[in-house]
Amino acid sequence: MRFTAAVLRAYDGPFTVEPVALASGPADGEVLVRIAGCGLCRTDLAVRRSAGRSPLPAVLGHEGAGVVEATGGGDTGLRAGDHVVLSFDSCGRCRGCLGAAPAYCDSFAALNLFGGRTGHAARFTDSTGAPLAPRWFGQSAFAEYALVPARNAVRVDPALPLALLGPLGCGFLTGAGAVLNSFRAGPGDTLLVLGAGSVGLAAVMAATAAGAVTVAVDRQPRRLALAERFGALPLAADVSGLPERVARLTDGGARYALDTTADVPLINDALRSLRPTGRLGLVARLHSGLRLETGTLDRGRGLAHLCEGDAVPGLLIPRLTALWQAGRFPFDELIRTYPLSAVNEAERDCESGRVVKPVLIPGS
Ligand SMILES: [Zn+2]
Ligand SMILES: [Zn+2]
Repeated sequence: MRFTAAVLRAYDGPFTVEPVALASGPADGEVLVRIAGCGLCRTDLAVRRSAGRSPLPAVLGHEGAGVVEATGGGDTGLRAGDHVVLSFDSCGRCRGCLGAAPAYCDSFAALNLFGGRTGHAARFTDSTGAPLAPRWFGQSAFAEYALVPARNAVRVDPALPLALLGPLGCGFLTGAGAVLNSFRAGPGDTLLVLGAGSVGLAAVMAATAAGAVTVAVDRQPRRLALAERFGALPLAADVSGLPERVARLTDGGARYALDTTADVPLINDALRSLRPTGRLGLVARLHSGLRLETGTLDRGRGLAHLCEGDAVPGLLIPRLTALWQAGRFPFDELIRTYPLSAVNEAERDCESGRVVKPVLIPGS
């Protein structure tokens, strides 16, 4: 079958919207999904800086949501017409997967970033028959259709606004999962969030929904105003004495902190802002070594890099949609939609911070 997709052909080039082809339909355990919308995540854009590790030309996009058009052999647990949110891929057999931690799948990097499942390679080509990179995050959803493992498709209530749900599979899952899964924050807990982008703001919303008190730090007043609207106490990133300010706002220090900035001085400040035994989660990829200042880990403080909010997508995504339906996780307010053909404009708006979460709509 032929359909339209946004293809990235050069690490420093624009996306081109062009016809692509799939040589066969869903294999065993796969489903074909007609994409209703796909979020643009910073990990898509990080391919540009992957130094060739993520192969091109590629169809990126890993926050897709859509309607199941066809199912392959085997029991996929899905039927044509089901509405699904697509998330990251995992093998289902390694110790991480067996232990309900698919984000720490032994094959995470291979399946999502650098290769995909071998069966999918060679089926996916451009209109001249030249091969495209293997499936990205088990999806390649900057397209009208995606052929995905049923394992990373989560069925959702058809009453939900399907085109907007894709970011629940990665960016919003990452922020909300850190709060609800990694930290298990509850009423009266205190949380410091560094960076009020899509991941940070999802963390703020989840913390507010959980009854926790959040302090949000960002350089952009517009983003801080958003964090405040979703329940956080705003704090400008460029003021001195951040730990002391956080201590005043949180009665002696935050129980948890989440860094989305990869800014090493801010990470040190975040550790200093924690109460004894407090936990810092890092979600952004560090581009340099992480030099911790003396004393920052004293008194039982700890830090870990968190992947995909420690989430089992099939459990967390329905929880987040239920919170949205109750008016307590208004993620749709962070989204601006673009036709798929405006993918380059969406990238510019995301990079400049003008839009928190662009969502591309194929066929519009
Ligand atoms: Zn696995
Ligand atoms: Zn992502």
